[in-house]
Amino acid sequence: MSARILIVEDEEALALLLRYNLEAEGYEIETVSRGDDADTRLRERTPDLVVLDWMLPGLSGIELCRRLRARPETKALPIIMLTARGEESERVRGLATGADDYIVKPFSVPELIARVRALLRRASPERLADVLAFGDLELDREKKRVSRSGREVELGPTEYRLLEFLMERPGRVFTREQLLDGVWGSEIYIDERTVDVHVGRLRKALNRPREIDPIRTVRGAGYALNDRFGKTG
Ligand code: CA
Repeated sequence: MSARILIVEDEEALALLLRYNLEAEGYEIETVSRGDDADTRLRERTPDLVVLDWMLPGLSGIELCRRLRARPETKALPIIMLTARGEESERVRGLATGADDYIVKPFSVPELIARVRALLRRASPERLADVLAFGDLELDREKKRVSRSGREVELGPTEYRLLEFLMERPGRVFTREQLLDGVWGSEIYIDERTVDVHVGRLRKALNRPREIDPIRTVRGAGYALNDRFGKTG
């Protein structure tokens, strides 16, 4: 699964340049030119990383960053802030607001790509691993096999992708809509109830009587892997 990056940048030429080059690197790119639109978009769907311009119409990059950090779903979302020369003294403020990294305009595209790659690796080493482990669960991507406490678990293709998606981002809460986007793909129209059906099947396959359910239902929000399960398991 390729990482999704949201670019929030009001300079159209720069946004295009970044989109073109990051897509060439295999990332899935979406661009938004206004801060308030980005805020709306980020409530609908959480990407894997945000490239965020400092000065934006609608809502500033700093304010947006502050809002993202205040919400549990985007608290740990990797953010690279773009600042113009002369705003450099304000870097500190940017980082204090919660950006993970910043880059000063004008910058070279390869430099930005390197930062993106480094930040994604740091944020989710799981993305690159062949074997994902969480508590007593193990998912082997090479062999497409799942086991719990060493016993093989039979999963359908959708349940497998669902578990893989959750294990790549342990602890993060996903709405049904985000799971539909991430597991089924945004181009397919499926009812959100479908997610519940497949989560139910996944649970049934994973859990034996008296075993802890690794999947947490977050009331009014969606689903996540259970943090406590990961630690104690
Ligand atoms: Ca700008």
